[in-house]
Amino acid sequence: MRLRSLSWEQYQELDAEAKAPYLMDNGRPQHVLIPQQFRRAELDNLCALATEIRRTAKIRAGADFLGNVLSHKRAMLYFTQPSTRTFLSHQAACLILGLKTGEVRDTATSSEIKGESREDSVRTFSSYFDLIIMRSKERGLAERMAWVLSQSERPIPIINAGSGHDQHPTQAVLDIYTLQRSFETRGGIDGKRIVFVGDLARGRTVRSLATLLTNYKDVSIGFVAPDSFQIGPDIIELLRSRGVRFDVSADFEAALPDADAVYMTRVQDEWDTETGQSARVDVSKFHLRPDDLKRMKPTAVIMHPLPRREEIPESIDRDPRAMYWRQMRNGMWVRTALIAQIFNVDEDIRSYFRQHVRGY
Ligand code: ASP
Repeated sequence: MRLRSLSWEQYQELDAEAKAPYLMDNGRPQHVLIPQQFRRAELDNLCALATEIRRTAKIRAGADFLGNVLSHKRAMLYFTQPSTRTFLSHQAACLILGLKTGEVRDTATSSEIKGESREDSVRTFSSYFDLIIMRSKERGLAERMAWVLSQSERPIPIINAGSGHDQHPTQAVLDIYTLQRSFETRGGIDGKRIVFVGDLARGRTVRSLATLLTNYKDVSIGFVAPDSFQIGPDIIELLRSRGVRFDVSADFEAALPDADAVYMTRVQDEWDTETGQSARVDVSKFHLRPDDLKRMKPTAVIMHPLPRREEIPESIDRDPRAMYWRQMRNGMWVRTALIAQIFNVDEDIRSYFRQHVRGY
């Protein structure tokens, strides 16, 4: 099914799941726009590919092979919202596969300052590049741009690297990869309890990951936050409709003992609608302290999409359960896997892995 065949109004009317066939082709993403486009089979595939890429890149000949796979392609990083890890890991992913990159990070340095529309900017990028990776504070902008390009003569793929406070699909996939790797020898993600903590109302990584967790069996989810930062009704509705067990509370200490993963987040005060709005919410009870570690399972993992503030002190980094730095690195492998799938070179990589790397 082709995005091109729909009007923007028709596309918008589809619910998220009905959009999936327009964004996927034979299990491969054409664009990466929303977490709902990935179901269990696609997630399992992506995780396997990310591991094969990671292992291939460790070997000099493997890194050389990967570096030529897409050396004829160029990617545009269009990041008009601050980013460190998402920007750099996408850039590193491009470098691993040999793509050359260009970037706009500040619209004050592009023709948008002269009044050019986003649509025209993105169409311009599509003339020079083969992929656009974009982050914007505007909700749904990546979807809109993918549709705009689908109507043009160069309908190149778009990766949503964070849109508004609603979605961050590539972060959600890397979080799934981190959970899967963490629970690899313990039956995977099925049956696990994931506890989200912090600003869940505006944390797009939480919203996207909670959506992906609906693909796993017997998962239970805890949302632990002050009332004004609790998870949105749309995610609650989604979990109910998918029959996923969840609970909502403001008791952080009580949530720790049975968690298999504790997913911490910072206050997202860049979305405040009035000055000091976030500062008036007491989040100190939602900080992980060294003493709390005793209350956690020895096998649990601590995750955070980063950047962190006071919610995890640096001293916790040394605890073997602290997974956030590995989680961040996993982002590079998962984003490499997504780009490989978009350009349909994943099978070449898998076949190289089978012939030259497995058993190495
Ligand atoms: N880096 C993540 C994001 O872009 C999390 C955060 O900023 O708190 O949403």
